[in-house]
Amino acid sequence: MMEARRHVIIGAGPAGMAAAAMIRTQQPDDRITVISSEPYPPYFRPLLPLFLSGDRSIKDLIMQGPRGIKLIRSCNVATINRRSVILKPRGGKINYDRLLIATGSSPQMPLVAMRNIHGVECLRSIAQARAILNRAKDSKQAVLLGGGILNIKTAPALKQMGIDVTIIEREKAILPRLMPTDAAELISNGLHRAGINIITGQTVEKIHYNKSGIGIRKVTLSDGREISCQLLLIAIGNQPNMAWLEDTPINRLPEGVLIDDCGRTNQPNIFAAGDVACTTGPDGQVQTYGTWTAAIEMGHRAGKAMVGNGSSPHARYMATWNAADVAGVPFIAMGSRVASEKEVHTNRDRDGYRQVIFCDDRLVGATFIGRHHLQRAGVYGALIKQGIPVSPEIRAAILNQRLNSAHLTHRADGTHRADGR
Ligand SMILES: Cc1cc2nc3c(=O)[nH]c(=O)nc-3n(C[C@H](O)[C@H](O)[C@H](O)COP(=O)(O)OP(=O)(O)OC[C@H]3O[C@@H](n4cnc5c(N)ncnc54)[C@H](O)[C@@H]3O)c2cc1C
Repeated sequence: MMEARRHVIIGAGPAGMAAAAMIRTQQPDDRITVISSEPYPPYFRPLLPLFLSGDRSIKDLIMQGPRGIKLIRSCNVATINRRSVILKPRGGKINYDRLLIATGSSPQMPLVAMRNIHGVECLRSIAQARAILNRAKDSKQAVLLGGGILNIKTAPALKQMGIDVTIIEREKAILPRLMPTDAAELISNGLHRAGINIITGQTVEKIHYNKSGIGIRKVTLSDGREISCQLLLIAIGNQPNMAWLEDTPINRLPEGVLIDDCGRTNQPNIFAAGDVACTTGPDGQVQTYGTWTAAIEMGHRAGKAMVGNGSSPHARYMATWNAADVAGVPFIAMGSRVASEKEVHTNRDRDGYRQVIFCDDRLVGATFIGRHHLQRAGVYGALIKQGIPVSPEIRAAILNQRLNSAHLTHRADGTHRADGR
């Protein structure tokens, strides 16, 4: 009989916990230890804006992890060697047979905000959400630097607290990496209706600190405009948490720890998944994901590979979803907007907005805004995730807005209708 293996997972986010769940299902007797730098049990980060607005409590954020796992909290991994992970506060070590790096990412800080000042905040963790709440109590105005999904989800929460909110986005529209400008306009309109100011084509050039050195009082934009604020929330992108790997032979790119389709690094028995990891496509292009759904999928794949079952038929295609209801405007953006030979179909009507993107007969991306268009988003998501060419019948159904779950059912002979065989 095979001896139970010792799996050590660094990071208790979705990637780490999905890997733990997969290992537990496949090898019930293996030992799993998860090490987390945070003091909380695993929780759902996308709900942090609702925690800020008071619509969710900490209890609502906590996720149920798989059973039979040893979770070590409030503990940082300092480094690793071939056999063990070395812990920071206690200097102890834990031996492993298989190791997963799932340390996620941290908010990037712009050069102007390098000082660790009360009032210049980011939202990534419960601790940071608490710091924002603390600061918000004494704030009348807030500037949110970055018009990505994080800040647009957070803006209504701050507005609900009676704070005057201004979003500053460097590009010409909000959500530049997620959807086209005309789609983003619908979301901007919703935010404007909710009383939130948006300034595009600008960035923060200077932060003015209080003379006492505690807190901030205003920011200067690139065009010289000044905006008073006591809270500056920064969300301009993330960087992988991998500085602690500096003295190790793990292969890293600036975008993250390089893994193959099954989550393996260049070192035997060491895997990575989630925001800390990146892959390269057939054209050598580096791909990062930065979403909850992708972290879970990468965690599942790595977990399988850690117990020796690491191969997946469509391993390249990772579904990325970003869904939210911002100021009464529900939307979902799925898959990729970047494809060299892409074919884009866009409709804007009184129900909202709908864009589908094909590449080589595959559905590779879709953006839907408005309740009506969102209804069948799951079916589109499934097609994007399969990543296989769609039949002419399905293609017509997509373009005529008639696609439904029946198109995804299997034929009696076991073939799939979506692939047209
Ligand atoms: C406010 C907010 C809203 C979001 N909304 C969405 C959304 O709507 N849709 C979506 O798809 N995604 C969303 N995301 C992104 C999503 O949460 C991340 O992509 C996901 O959490 C990444 O998972 P992960 O497991 O890779 O890393 P994380 O969830 O970042 O977990 C990594 C963990 O590892 C710990 N760690 C780091 N270094 C060490 C160390 N040396 N030792 C021990 N532990 C360490 C970290 O503290 C952290 O707890 C949102 C994120 C935020 C912050």
